[in-house]
Amino acid sequence: MARVVTEPCIGCKSGECVEVCPVDCFFDIGNMLVINPEECIDCAACEDVCPVEAIVPDDDANEKWININAETDFDSAKHVTSQEEIEKP
Ligand code: SF4
Ligand code: SF4
Repeated sequence: MARVVTEPCIGCKSGECVEVCPVDCFFDIGNMLVINPEECIDCAACEDVCPVEAIVPDDDANEKWININAETDFDSAKHVTSQEEIEKP
């Protein structure tokens, strides 16, 4: 189980989620952030602070968004651990 970032993050990228994640599993893929499902401990802290309700449990997510998160190349994507590190859209 993991949380998944979905469409409302596109163009927002406000970053509150990054600030509260205890395991630093957010990555910036340009137009949005994604969560590394291998690292996420499904604590839901990020879901609670996202202002546009972009973060959902993978059980509730459309497969398209599950794949966009899971198929990110986490070796080359930008790892972000604070709001300042996010490239603004
Ligand atoms: S808080 Fe929500 S909209 Fe903001 S960067 Fe995180 S997932 Fe995207
Ligand atoms: S559910 Fe918890 S561990 Fe997973 S991305 Fe959100 S804050 Fe991080």
